[in-house]
Amino acid sequence: MKYISTRGQAPELTFDEAMLTGLARDGGLYVPESVPQMSAAEIAALEGLSYEEAAFRVMRPFIGESFADDEFRAIIERAYAGFGHAARAPLKQLDSGHFLLELFHGPTLAFKDFAMQLIGQLFQTALARRGERVTIVGATSGDTGSAAIEAFRGLKNVDVFILYPHGRVSEVQRRQMTTPSESNVHALAVDGDFDDCQARLKDMFNDFDFRDGVRLAGVNSINWARVLAQVVYYFTSAVSLGAPHRKVSFTVPTGNFGDIFAGYIAKKMGLPIDRLVVATNQNDILHRCLSGQGYHKGPTHPSVSPSMDIQVSSNFERALFDAYNRDGRAVAQLMDELKAGGFEVSQGAMEALRESFDSGRASEAETLATIKATLAQSAELICPHTAVGVKVADEQRVAGVPMITLATAHPAKFPAAVEEASSVHPPLPPRMADLYDRPERVTRIANDLAALQDHIKGHIGA
Ligand SMILES: *Cc1c(COP(=O)(O)O)cnc(C)c1O
Repeated sequence: MKYISTRGQAPELTFDEAMLTGLARDGGLYVPESVPQMSAAEIAALEGLSYEEAAFRVMRPFIGESFADDEFRAIIERAYAGFGHAARAPLKQLDSGHFLLELFHGPTLAFKDFAMQLIGQLFQTALARRGERVTIVGATSGDTGSAAIEAFRGLKNVDVFILYPHGRVSEVQRRQMTTPSESNVHALAVDGDFDDCQARLKDMFNDFDFRDGVRLAGVNSINWARVLAQVVYYFTSAVSLGAPHRKVSFTVPTGNFGDIFAGYIAKKMGLPIDRLVVATNQNDILHRCLSGQGYHKGPTHPSVSPSMDIQVSSNFERALFDAYNRDGRAVAQLMDELKAGGFEVSQGAMEALRESFDSGRASEAETLATIKATLAQSAELICPHTAVGVKVADEQRVAGVPMITLATAHPAKFPAAVEEASSVHPPLPPRMADLYDRPERVTRIANDLAALQDHIKGHIGA
């Protein structure tokens, strides 16, 4: 299995090389050269398996020779052992045709644990075998950073630096990043917004001297291994509702387009998905683009669903790559135009995107109203990101096709918004009830490439 860059100018890599590299050297994102297929019989055979065994079967064809079967099975076991629910990704029913896929039973209470816990174990195994050490730098709007720190804390061959926008993450998110005491964990509060953090991260990857000097590795949602880990729960949930004999649809609260892109891969592998619905908050650049208005950056408006407050949706590049018939040069040009503010999507590419994706948006008021209504109607307390999904899903459902909305975080991760909407204070699960008592450790830093690079160089292996 070979991986190629969406901009067509970087070397082809194996799975483990693409994972350790993150962003391709031409600025592009790695994608599999071709998507492995699962037959209807293979999909049907997933029914009743443990989450771990289903994960092995779905991901194995993408791994190539990078990990032996026994090794890969053991990695998956370790990755999900710390989850607080035996089903890992349980389905809950909201009403007759609408289901919630609960993806928040991992150690940091958001779906990012599914990918990050796996990637931590994959990195550890690959680096130990190579006798190498890497510096992981990530940018986060809140959930990626806490998930990365939780996955890499204390690992021997890794330093992890996380850039988050100062003052723009929830207190639970911040504390999950600033309270781990391991010396290989470094939380950096940047004076800027999430797009600034993501831009500085890209700058670091494009500075090859720095990149090679500190052995930079990325675990942001552009890392292919993360997308792959997220493909699994599309299969397990669809199968439990009758796939491959029945079609299902998914609605996905979307920011960086990683989670929904995993659904697109599941569909390409052969899972009978009817519709994939992109749900955005008031930062609705993806919804506008998928509605034919081009992709044009604007200011980011802080919302009650901060993990989706994004203008540059990194993984959308992967969808564009396919929509432009895998023409790396065309994608590279669009991304150049994006730096200057935005781009128009060609008519052919627009048709391809509309073939795969529907979209909708939820305003702040609609998000809060949905939290309240869902509690009243279905006795479920949902987080604001999930509420964006539920609102859009309700608009887009069609009779006869079950709709699965991805519940991307636990309500206790965003207590202020949940309480404002519902008057109910969502308690933290008992296993992390002392989060507010643990001491914090964080460095406040300017939105400046040189300052960040100096700090990182000075704190590796500390
Ligand atoms: C990251 C995140 C999202 C957005 O996921 P993408 O893969 O970036 O589209 C939605 N909800 C929550 C809670 C998140 O942490």
